[in-house]
Amino acid sequence: MNNDEIRFLQEITDLKGTSGNEDTVRNYFRKKYEGLADKIETDGLGSLAAYLGDKGPKIMAVGHMDEVGFMVRSITEDGFVKFSRCGFFFVTGTFCQHFVINTDKGPVKALCALGQGHFEKMPEINDLVMDIGCTSKQEAAELGVKVGDFIVPEEHFRQMGDGKYLVNKAWDNRIGCAIALRTMENLKKDGHDNIFVAGGSVQEEVGTRGAVTLGNLVKPAVAFSIDIGTADDMPGGAHEECALGKGPELCFMDSMTISNRRLMKLAIETAEENGIPYQTSLMKHGGTDAGEFQKVGSGVPVLLINVPCRYPHTPTSMIHYDDYENAVKLLTALVKKLDQKTVDSLTAF
Ligand SMILES: [Zn+2]
Repeated sequence: MNNDEIRFLQEITDLKGTSGNEDTVRNYFRKKYEGLADKIETDGLGSLAAYLGDKGPKIMAVGHMDEVGFMVRSITEDGFVKFSRCGFFFVTGTFCQHFVINTDKGPVKALCALGQGHFEKMPEINDLVMDIGCTSKQEAAELGVKVGDFIVPEEHFRQMGDGKYLVNKAWDNRIGCAIALRTMENLKKDGHDNIFVAGGSVQEEVGTRGAVTLGNLVKPAVAFSIDIGTADDMPGGAHEECALGKGPELCFMDSMTISNRRLMKLAIETAEENGIPYQTSLMKHGGTDAGEFQKVGSGVPVLLINVPCRYPHTPTSMIHYDDYENAVKLLTALVKKLDQKTVDSLTAF
């Protein structure tokens, strides 16, 4: 485990970027791609595409830059903040947690209040409020809090166990953005017979919106959606699919996508040839950006690669360092194989 890499992973998950408010995340990654990529573009919603190479099929691998959070809906007369979801934040992962409201005057600390009626009964998300330490609407306004401000969990990076169990908000999906970046760095050193496109999409958590516009901007020949998958080794989990530390997940399907079977086979062969641990899975709930990438033009072969994650869509998600490192190794080895002939074979129906 490399300490610089751990610091990098902390930095990217500390960044605040709910859907529609990905500016700090995009600026951070754009800087990383400057001097690495040959060309950088953005689409009309703010997704980022960084290109390496100018010959061969376009192979795109991106994560989404946004994280789940909330938006201020109203402020009560007694100074509490009501909010609406921006992405599917679990209600159970919300109360008694620390949050930050991004205002024009700077960040304001907020605590998701456990109201008196909630001690015994699970509240609805729309019944919850944030306590910002104010007693009136005017005090809240003086702090800068107003309707439309974005709310994200406060960062609290931790290394647990042997140090490889990493906890913070927003692994979903800064880890996907990190894997795309590190893969491009490897390909620049090793060489590749394609145009590799990395970067990040926006607004995935509110319905894979940036994937539509990014797909149309890049028009890839092959696309990888790099995301997190819900680990199966959580308390009460089925323990039949993916566990932390046992390798990246090659995912057969989610609710919007079926991975290209030939690309899946090539990924499994590549992992086995290189001695890279991997797991296979079927995502039971939810879709990913791949669902939109596959529909660009006359159709694009896609593969879902996930990093197993415990407790996603809460402020306390957990991944394993080795899964991150092995995802980078596997994606690098796989993209190196994708020359024109191999790409053509994926869609020779
Ligand atoms: Zn995600």
